[in-house]
Amino acid sequence: MSAYHQLSDLQRALKADELCCVDMVQAFLKRIRERPEINAFLEVYDEEAIERAAWLDAEHVAGRWYPLSGMVMALKDNIAYKGHRFSASSKILEGFESLFSATATQRLFDAGAIFIGRVNCDEFAMGSSNENSAFGPVLNPLDSQRVPGGSSGGSAAAVAAGFCHAALGSDTGGSIRQPSAYCGVVGLKPTYGRISRHGLIAFGSSFDQIGPITHSLEDAALLTEIMAGADDYDGTCSRRPASECRMPTEPKGNGRLKLVVLEDLEDSGGLDPQMFEAYQNLLVRLKAEGHQIITRSLPELKYSIPTYYILATAEASSNLSRYSGVHYGYRNPDATTLEETYKKSRTEAFGKEVRRRIMLGTFVLSEAYYDAYYSKGQKVRRLLRDKSYALLEGADALLLPTTTGAAFRFGEKSDDPLQMYKEDMFTVLANLNGFPAVSVPFALNRERLPLGIQLMGRPWEEGQLLRMAAILHPHRAVSTPLDA
Ligand code: GLN
Repeated sequence: MSAYHQLSDLQRALKADELCCVDMVQAFLKRIRERPEINAFLEVYDEEAIERAAWLDAEHVAGRWYPLSGMVMALKDNIAYKGHRFSASSKILEGFESLFSATATQRLFDAGAIFIGRVNCDEFAMGSSNENSAFGPVLNPLDSQRVPGGSSGGSAAAVAAGFCHAALGSDTGGSIRQPSAYCGVVGLKPTYGRISRHGLIAFGSSFDQIGPITHSLEDAALLTEIMAGADDYDGTCSRRPASECRMPTEPKGNGRLKLVVLEDLEDSGGLDPQMFEAYQNLLVRLKAEGHQIITRSLPELKYSIPTYYILATAEASSNLSRYSGVHYGYRNPDATTLEETYKKSRTEAFGKEVRRRIMLGTFVLSEAYYDAYYSKGQKVRRLLRDKSYALLEGADALLLPTTTGAAFRFGEKSDDPLQMYKEDMFTVLANLNGFPAVSVPFALNRERLPLGIQLMGRPWEEGQLLRMAAILHPHRAVSTPLDA
């Protein structure tokens, strides 16, 4: 297989008969088999993917082309695909098979995508390192001592390892962008409400968004446009035109952007010195290229992590109450009463982090503490949203590192939940305010690990945002680490 950058190039090669879908799928399957230790896939749809590829090849011979003809994708294990198992990487959904496809899955399928398998993630998408999966951690394909990030670690690792062209992730507090940064690929969290959440296992319903993890901004735009648009099954899904996700051919403002950066950034999140240096170099380069860098302050950024962990756990405690051991999935075989069934099934089948969040969420929603935590959290969320609009006034986007540094080592943060939660320092703002944000690899550190930079734009301007991000993504210089 030759180097893969974006679907349009691949489709040209398919049309010129230089390759076919079956050979491509076979090559991906071979790579997946060659590196089982990565543990990105919970299930590989070998035969089904080959069959689908053969069908597409036949369609192509007959002159029928689809928008996603040739694109091979992986699905995060919390996104439904009819007739296939999915478990949110939790023991509690053991053996569960989906009766329907998520709207996002269905739209990609109808557009011609080939699904090659479902990929590992942190249990119920709670985590930043993939160490919380009931099916073992995913290794970062660039350095197996390091985490791929989370919760969509399997998705980002699969794309970076060249196991597929693109993958779907979900982002509640950074779960698309942070693993994309750690694996050196592109990850977009669309505006809240852009893509239907129907068929996505709920974590924090007022935050959750599905989004693409890709090698290029062009593919991210295309996949988002295909998944976007009103859906009768999700009332929070916007009716705004999906074409807003398309990258405009002309860059905004003659290509000279006004980018907001935050004052005292190095103090706020404990930036790793190498990240700080790469970030400063980027600012110098952008200024030299004629972009305007505007420094503004957002002292309230420090409230974003506590606010997120109050509100998201509150929502999670309610969303996860359906896993009772009665309806589906795991049930303790020895329980004799209903209450015992609930208690034993939930205690045994939920992992430690999920149990911690259910307890935290139940606590902040309890009558005595509701006002002190949940209500206050809602107010701070509103404040952060208003401040975000003010921050972007007269400017095009906010420029922030995606994470404080490069991928960390296994075990480094897993014993200390607060350390792990700090991973979300720069990503949760876009979930609290609902704005779109994209992470792109922009530099390598001295250990040759990728660093991610993030651009957050105004709601409903994904196309513009991705267009702007092109200035940060010198993909030919910092190539996505493994060609696919
Ligand atoms: N790290 C965040 C958390 O653990 C992100 C989760 C997410 O976006 N799904 O909650």
